[in-house]
Amino acid sequence: MYDTNNIFAKILRGEIPAAKVHETEHVLAFMDAMPQSDGHTLVIPKVQARNFFDIEPNALAELIKATQVVARGVKDAFKPDGIRIAQFNEPAAGQTVFHLHFHIIPCYEGKALRAHSREMADPALLAQHAERIKAALQTTS
Ligand code: 5GP
Repeated sequence: MYDTNNIFAKILRGEIPAAKVHETEHVLAFMDAMPQSDGHTLVIPKVQARNFFDIEPNALAELIKATQVVARGVKDAFKPDGIRIAQFNEPAAGQTVFHLHFHIIPCYEGKALRAHSREMADPALLAQHAERIKAALQTTS
């Protein structure tokens, strides 16, 4: 059910890099490597959970609370016109990485989102975006 070699498990273990924006004992947030818009951020639980149905309620509560915190940081850093919070379960629904995560996707009037999971962003740009969100989180928290 849960594959410990999924890409987010590797990020949690520090085996592959990620542009991190927020970390607690319960969650990790980092920039999506193929962002649908500038500021696209992911929030994941540290417990092993494949999807929304596969996580203990208290851990889910920590995850959604952290998603709100990080989304506030994204909002302050990027000042989008709106923010989409998304979560997919299983391939039929669009899930491609099988460790539960919430997407925080800034949306801008008149600007279409880029395709889901399509084009890798420049890691240096993602690092810059992560710094902007971290700075915003320091002033909002
Ligand atoms: P899903 O389709 O499972 O809801 O979303 C998975 C997300 O993970 C996609 O938006 C995709 O761009 C992102 N992603 C895939 N591989 C990596 C990676 O190695 N690093 C990061 N930071 N994001 C990734």
